[in-house]
Amino acid sequence: MEFRRLTEAEIPGYLQDVPAMQARFSDFDDLDVSEVGDGNLNFVFLVSHRRDPQQTVVVKQAVPYLRVVGQSWPLTRHRMDIETAALRHFRALCPQHLPEVFHADSDMSLVVMERLRDHRILRGALLDGHTFDSVAAHLSTFMAHSLFHGSDLYLTPAAKRDAVKRFTNVELCKITEDLIFTHPYDDSPTNSYNPALPRDAIDRIQRNPLLRAAVGELKYAFMTRAETLLHGDLHVGSVMVSEKETYVIDPEFAFYGPMGFDIGILLANFFLAWYGQGARAPGGADATHTQDWLLRTAAQCWDGFAQQFMQLWQAHEHGGAGFIGRDLDGASAQAYRDAFMRQVFQDSLGFAGCEMVRRVLGLAKVADIADVADPVARASAETGALRLAERLLLQRHQAGSMQDVLTWVRA
Ligand code: ADP
Ligand code: MG
Repeated sequence: MEFRRLTEAEIPGYLQDVPAMQARFSDFDDLDVSEVGDGNLNFVFLVSHRRDPQQTVVVKQAVPYLRVVGQSWPLTRHRMDIETAALRHFRALCPQHLPEVFHADSDMSLVVMERLRDHRILRGALLDGHTFDSVAAHLSTFMAHSLFHGSDLYLTPAAKRDAVKRFTNVELCKITEDLIFTHPYDDSPTNSYNPALPRDAIDRIQRNPLLRAAVGELKYAFMTRAETLLHGDLHVGSVMVSEKETYVIDPEFAFYGPMGFDIGILLANFFLAWYGQGARAPGGADATHTQDWLLRTAAQCWDGFAQQFMQLWQAHEHGGAGFIGRDLDGASAQAYRDAFMRQVFQDSLGFAGCEMVRRVLGLAKVADIADVADPVARASAETGALRLAERLLLQRHQAGSMQDVLTWVRA
């Protein structure tokens, strides 16, 4: 079949011809279809039966250009193959945290998946003042399982190298390389600055040679260290939550990179939200409640990740493919594991710094801060975020634990 972009009106007809949909829908004559893609890249359709809303799916289609920019920024539709493969891979590891894939169509660059009905995007929920007790436990579980099982600590060398090949994601990595690691530091036209943000605060980032060197190191790590299969875009807009459940969506940036990248992006988004909350209703009880939750959740995400990752490692090091069990034992194995976890922690802090700078100076801001109506209040959140980013980048080797980092945030 040849690619064509589907309109809302064409979705029922398309689904009717998909065998897997026969079991999901009693008929295709009365479907409600609405396009909700708030994202920058793709078209996302919510489909539900008008008479029985339980019959519902999501259709996501990639188009051969960057949606937010238009046809002038071409992108291959192949990214949908990667997204689909990553959804299936992560779902096999953590079925409780990923939507099920019902149907994938490579020619049409689309996927049909489980509709998360009682869930909403975490960023918006936090902005509305909601907090969720289990998010840290769920996201740390997702990260421990996904980052461990994609790595050489679990896979055989042959399987790992094959996976690196399958998940080579040239174009979307290039977006990250440009938008996270390069453009925020030059005066790229893709940047935009809050007019109330003092030039000094921008210069402190863009004209600091040591900081730029740290970003260079992290970019090089991103490009060269094929440690594990990353989600690649694990911010709080890629997480959907209900009171009891947490789902991760939108892994189109998946590729083999350094473990700390996913963790760092997530931590950065909690910190950005913390500054945004502070600027919205400073000192208010609701903002303070959310801020406390954000820091607690950030700390628990790392701590829960580290603990579960270590357990998985110890459970697998003597069987299977885990190389370390054969090469090291006893005290040397423990010393190696400790050094490994320190490195992942420091990488995470560094990548968190990069993400925070990008979200303040670069393309694709976060609503938490960018939607603060008063430009001066917004600028104070931005200045705080940039100060923390600077510390994360320059002092990441000095932080012993998340508690140290939380004191940097509060400073
Ligand atoms: P993009 O890649 O364009 O950013 P996303 O995968 O983030 O697209 O999806 C865009 C929006 O569609 C999400 O923010 C969410 O509101 C909604 N959405 C995506 N997948 C699902 C799903 N499985 N169930 C319910 N809503 C979804
Ligand atoms: Mg996306």
